[in-house]
Amino acid sequence: MAMYDPKSLKAEEFINDAEIRETLAYAEANKNNVELIDAILEKARPVKQGNGCTCAGLTHREASVLLACEIPEKIERMYQIAEEIKLAFYGNRIVMFAPLYLSNYCVNGCLYCPYHLKNKHIARRKLTQDEVRAEVIALQDMGHKRLAIEAGEDPVHNPIEYILDCIHTIYGVHHKNGDIRRVNVNIAATTVENYRRLKEAGIGTYILFQETYHKESYLRLHPTGPKHDYDYHTEAMDRAMEGGIDDVGLGVLFGLELYKYEFAGLIMHAEHLEAVHGVGPHTISVPRVKRADDIDPDMFDNGIDDETFTKIAACIRLAVPYTGMIVSTRETEAVRAKLLRVGISQVSGASRTSVGGYTEEERPHDTEQFDVSDQRTLDEVVRWLMETGHIPSFCTACYRAGRTGDRFMSLCKSGQILNCCHPNALMTLAEYLVDYASDETRKIGWRMIEQELERIPKENVRRIAAENIEAIRSSNRRDFRF
Ligand code: SAM
Repeated sequence: MAMYDPKSLKAEEFINDAEIRETLAYAEANKNNVELIDAILEKARPVKQGNGCTCAGLTHREASVLLACEIPEKIERMYQIAEEIKLAFYGNRIVMFAPLYLSNYCVNGCLYCPYHLKNKHIARRKLTQDEVRAEVIALQDMGHKRLAIEAGEDPVHNPIEYILDCIHTIYGVHHKNGDIRRVNVNIAATTVENYRRLKEAGIGTYILFQETYHKESYLRLHPTGPKHDYDYHTEAMDRAMEGGIDDVGLGVLFGLELYKYEFAGLIMHAEHLEAVHGVGPHTISVPRVKRADDIDPDMFDNGIDDETFTKIAACIRLAVPYTGMIVSTRETEAVRAKLLRVGISQVSGASRTSVGGYTEEERPHDTEQFDVSDQRTLDEVVRWLMETGHIPSFCTACYRAGRTGDRFMSLCKSGQILNCCHPNALMTLAEYLVDYASDETRKIGWRMIEQELERIPKENVRRIAAENIEAIRSSNRRDFRF
């Protein structure tokens, strides 16, 4: 039987089934152990250090005890600490992005995804470079600066060269004052060489959802196609890092398997990356299975309610305090509002999950990957965030300034975020307000910028940020950053 070893490069050793089962048994045995729970909560709290803060994070065993705990006041405490951590490291900024679907051709047989090969009635479509350009212009006209590109796995229709061409096209579109400054990539597991090429093309984060860490279920849910190979899929992030990508994004598709198992696997994956590469995941996404063309989410037995979902997000926040957390428009406004309080740092807005969807007047459904629950415009999402005390940020500075991997994490820990990310968020929000916002959003936004500028500790940074914001208001100068 495979032995648990977080430093191993073998999937079955760093995501070790026996270790997960023992963790779940330990969590179940201790879910009412108040003394232990209090000690774990205490360990998770942010501690002041110099100008900044540090956070110890939690092991997968500790975090699993919290997830198993059902004592209402302890859960409330988890939520409070999750919010404290978020405010300590990410402040009240929320990074905005949109997915861009390039192609829904796919040779895999994933049972939860409508792009699966056997689905003969979904319209198959792949964007030409002209169509990519048109989609990007539509996204720029909304105000987006950061995209996550999405494609099915198909070596004939969507080879790596096609993906690289698309990235090149996207970065090359400069429409009015718009540009896309960070392209994250969510494509199937690939080779070290291909990861190297993606890195050279200037991508931000490489995102790949594990879907499920439970090997047996994984094999059943991915019966055919290259994605059937559990080990190849699970070891993808190590290959990505070997190829030079040091910002990687993990995720589980909640609903497929028992959430406690998935949670332990996810935290173990983060521990593995830290142990082997010295840097944990840049982001963790928390998608839930949704209705789609020929997919009924009730086919899967492990759907989770909103309360459990919120608890999972809070426990992730406590376990991996420096990792960004993403929630997409799969979730409703109400659920997104809840999750924002327990640690989410990035949201998508005005997403269309269909190939070519942004250039259509009406939201098209014929090539959609899943139903979108939050169908508000970007302007509405931006306004809502501000009304609920968040700064919508279109910042993409870090990776462009080389602050990736552990360099980003050090920034996070150093307390310099208020002198760096905060002004960057305000300057990019100012761009949004001048170039794209409605009058109502603009009014709220300028008020927010005025107040938030005061929170920048360093006097010279505050002055430069204010000058840049004035330049954005009164001229076409854009893209300032610290
Ligand atoms: N094809 C790539 C791969 O194999 O990893 C990734 C791109 S896919 C467009 C992005 C993600 O959408 C998948 O990893 C999966 O987790 C998610 N997804 C698929 N079907 C879904 C559904 N019915 N509801 C919600 N999310 C879904």
